[in-house]
Amino acid sequence: MCTSTCCVPGSSSIRTSSSEVTASPEAYDTIECDVLVVGAGGAGMRAAIAAAEAGCRVTVVTKSLLGKAHTVMAEGGIAAGIGNLDPEDSWEVHFADTMLGGQLVNNWRMVELYAHEVIDRVLELERWGGIFDRTDDGLIMQRAFGAHSWRRLAHVGDRTGLELIRTCQDKMVHTEGVDVCMEYTLTCLLKSGDRVCGAFGYNRNTGRFVAFKAGAVVLASGGWGRMYRYTSNSWECSGDGATMAYQAGADLLDMEFMQFHPTGMIWPPGARGILVTEAVRGEGGLLFNAEGSRFMLDYDPVKKELSSRDVVARSIYKEVQAGRGTPHGGAYLDVRHLGADYVKRKLPSMYEQFHALASVDITSQPMEVGPTIHYTMGGIRVEPETAATTVPGLYAAGEAAGGLHGANRLGGNSLGDILVFGRRAGDAAAEFAKTVGTVRVIDDAQIATEQADLLRPLDGDGNGSAGENPYKLHEDLQLAMQDDAGIGRSEESLQRALAAILAIRERTAGIRVSGGRVLNPGWHTCRDVTNMLVISEAIVRGAIERRESRGSQWRFDHLEQEVEFGKINFVTRRGGDGMQVVSVPITPMPDRLRPLLERSRFYDPAKLPKGYMTETAPDAGTTGKKK
Ligand code: FAD
Repeated sequence: MCTSTCCVPGSSSIRTSSSEVTASPEAYDTIECDVLVVGAGGAGMRAAIAAAEAGCRVTVVTKSLLGKAHTVMAEGGIAAGIGNLDPEDSWEVHFADTMLGGQLVNNWRMVELYAHEVIDRVLELERWGGIFDRTDDGLIMQRAFGAHSWRRLAHVGDRTGLELIRTCQDKMVHTEGVDVCMEYTLTCLLKSGDRVCGAFGYNRNTGRFVAFKAGAVVLASGGWGRMYRYTSNSWECSGDGATMAYQAGADLLDMEFMQFHPTGMIWPPGARGILVTEAVRGEGGLLFNAEGSRFMLDYDPVKKELSSRDVVARSIYKEVQAGRGTPHGGAYLDVRHLGADYVKRKLPSMYEQFHALASVDITSQPMEVGPTIHYTMGGIRVEPETAATTVPGLYAAGEAAGGLHGANRLGGNSLGDILVFGRRAGDAAAEFAKTVGTVRVIDDAQIATEQADLLRPLDGDGNGSAGENPYKLHEDLQLAMQDDAGIGRSEESLQRALAAILAIRERTAGIRVSGGRVLNPGWHTCRDVTNMLVISEAIVRGAIERRESRGSQWRFDHLEQEVEFGKINFVTRRGGDGMQVVSVPITPMPDRLRPLLERSRFYDPAKLPKGYMTETAPDAGTTGKKK
């Protein structure tokens, strides 16, 4: 066991990695728990609270410090059909908007559970002390967001993620039975037969190896944007969890669906990719091209600036391609008409961000914005009710999991996702761990193999000059993905991206870094890059197979939606000969849910996404609260 622990109130403890002693490379520490949670974002913390409340000993592992997970960056709000401002709103309308926004390839059962339960999860957050902006009547304030029928996003200014993290963290550290290991990177899952029985990794500060033995593992490790050059994602988002799941035999779902958020900063170069929250448009911000034309009136006259993200991102791209872009290749986003006081009160982070990073006062100047990689709709394939993956003992929730959002995520649906399915994953993992128990002996051969792989980049002459530089490999991968697997794709560009990925993968055999294992970011990057290569290959192979345009997948060589692709999801799994992508049929939506689609303000029978809508199916589940 790691010995140094620093306790916080309650019986939980937080273990900082810097306080440990380096030992010989082959040695490793062992930490045992009932449920291991990989990730301390919203999904991980909500899972940990649920599992601990079910009576389990829980260990939460995070690459960064507690409170710093990617979730903290979230801005605009949590989508929940509470109806505080618009009484017409309800879980049913939220269901319909989410399905239509996802172009009907979402897992409808996940969407149903989500739309129901997110209301309770938001109110629970409020009970736990979460602060929200308020209406005059003291109710939780809700704001408009793209492709939501009504004002739906519970928020606090443009710092909602910070509040969610703060509230969950406070609750978690006061919940009995939760330990936290900060600044640890897990690199592989440990298995006993078919079942996952823990994970292995290292302490980022000391480099010391550690094995976590667990009855069940929840992957709440977030998404993966860092294989693209311009991204709103934090440094943690290298797809570690999905890679570990894939290596352990789990299915990945619809990996081709990568969301380009329409509004990232595009100037100055150092700020490129940083998010400009959709709350700016939710509060009334307008988009203009360089000729001063409000172009969204042409692309989507009904939803305008609040069209779904895939549509707005493509519209900006088209304006730039048509020669109507701003000087740095984007569009203008303007909030001047809202008034300086309102802007500073409702969008304080945006005001500060542009002031500090671009010397732009958004109350008197327009913002220059363009698409940036933001979110991963695809992810680890899970059962809706339990968040169980296809490998026993392994669960996944939050951005790491797939299925909820289909081909395009609506803004605000991720913060809700992490609360709803984080809780479900924690509950189910606890039940599994209590039923099946922890494996007593872990297989040292697995650990030896993993250690050898991790240590390989440190072999050689010690100055790193002889081999491939991990940062260079990362840069080459980002160029390939940005140029050839970006917002628009074709068979030709995707084949080019795939060839580049495979060539970079070959080069990873010679990856070398200088220095040792203590506090060595170069060494950490070696595994990040190999993980990003696995995920990039899955994205590109999925995008090649999906020969249509749907949601975030925009194929220049297949501009239309195809009925057959609306009836399937693509599953990526590890085969004997390498990565395989196969199609699996979508279970048709039951008749009880089908009429709900009509409740969306954006329902238009003439423009329905093509696919399984034309079929009918018997009822396949019960509506409502968790069992
Ligand atoms: P994360 O918060 O990404 O947490 C992942 C955790 O896993 C981290 O603790 C990380 O350290 C850990 N981890 C990863 N790999 C390893 C490893 N190998 N070993 C150990 N630990 C590991 N969504 C909304 O719904 N509304 C919004 O307003 C909104 N605004 C956003 C604004 C920005 C700028 C960004 C970038 C995103 C926004 N999103 C928003 C999306 C949303 O924030 C994320 O999808 C969500 O927070 C993901 O939460 P998560 O718990 O799944 O993962």
